[in-house]
Amino acid sequence: MAIERIVDTSAHDDDSEEQVIEITLRPQSFDEYVGQERLKKNLKLAIAAAKKRGEPVDHVLLYGPPGLGKTTMAAVIANEMGAGLRVTAGPAIERSGDLASILTNLNDGDILFIDEIHRLSRAVEEVLYSAMEDFKLDIVIGKGPAARSVRLDLPKFTVIGATTRAGSLAGPLRDRFGLQHRLEFYTAPEIEKIITRAASILGSSIKPDAAELMADRARLTPRIANRLLKRVRDYADINGDGIIDYQVTTDALKLLEVDELGLDPADRQLLASMLEHYGFRPVGLSTIAALTGDETTTIEDFYEPYMMQIGLIERTPRGRKVTKKAARHLGKDISPENE
Ligand code: ADP
Repeated sequence: MAIERIVDTSAHDDDSEEQVIEITLRPQSFDEYVGQERLKKNLKLAIAAAKKRGEPVDHVLLYGPPGLGKTTMAAVIANEMGAGLRVTAGPAIERSGDLASILTNLNDGDILFIDEIHRLSRAVEEVLYSAMEDFKLDIVIGKGPAARSVRLDLPKFTVIGATTRAGSLAGPLRDRFGLQHRLEFYTAPEIEKIITRAASILGSSIKPDAAELMADRARLTPRIANRLLKRVRDYADINGDGIIDYQVTTDALKLLEVDELGLDPADRQLLASMLEHYGFRPVGLSTIAALTGDETTTIEDFYEPYMMQIGLIERTPRGRKVTKKAARHLGKDISPENE
């Protein structure tokens, strides 16, 4: 994405100060991790059982839209297991050799977190799922007639895979995950709790009605909640006495052009052009991508999940369509001839 958007759920990883804040805001334990109760309950059980048996916890697949806490949960699991954590991402493991070197450097019980696991190449996927199955690694040494295959024992490790699209994972790899969970959008009260907690870690004073207002606009996503908080906090520091109250929050959100539903100008533009060109009829994904100039995956991963969650876009067998709620939100005419 060309312009950095405040409500964009991707991690902006080019800003080192942001990185440090992200790390300090990250919950370290199940108690600090707000929401996702069903996931936590299942994981607590799996961890307790694994500890009792003295084994690593089963491989875990976490899927769902970006910014909902998959990476954070991997770190919490490692903490709760008292295990080492190694973090990598699908696109970073280009060849099977890269994976072999990661795997052979793990210690017993370690957790290997693979973000964007759906982006592993098929060749790497194959090596990974056999390693996950029986903790062995088959590698070929040498080339040509002198080449021979050796089988290495690997430490007993746990893979935690994260993906925005579980459907893109090859079946055999997906089957190796004993625990598979979808992260859900948070409720507004949960987001409010996350904002209040983050403000206290950052040493900022925030009024409850300000936290509530911000929570309503954070797209039910912790990453955006934290990001909004940081921007509103800057605004409060510059334009007031640093206290984040309702008025300061309203003014800052206006400046940031984030509306009552947490939409920014790019989101509104997308809805408006779908409505203008297609009314309430379904539109194909590639056409939507052409309207915004984004990749189809950007539409699927970033724009769409939240807009569907709050009922601004609907998915039909023939494509996505804008809802009446969206039209009303944009202040557009919803007379019958538009349908
Ligand atoms: P994902 O890996 O799903 O894209 P992250 O784990 O990177 O998301 O989460 C984004 C940020 O949101 C984290 O830095 C963390 O501070 C915050 N966060 C995520 N989940 C929670 C939660 N359940 N409670 C509190 N903060 C959270």
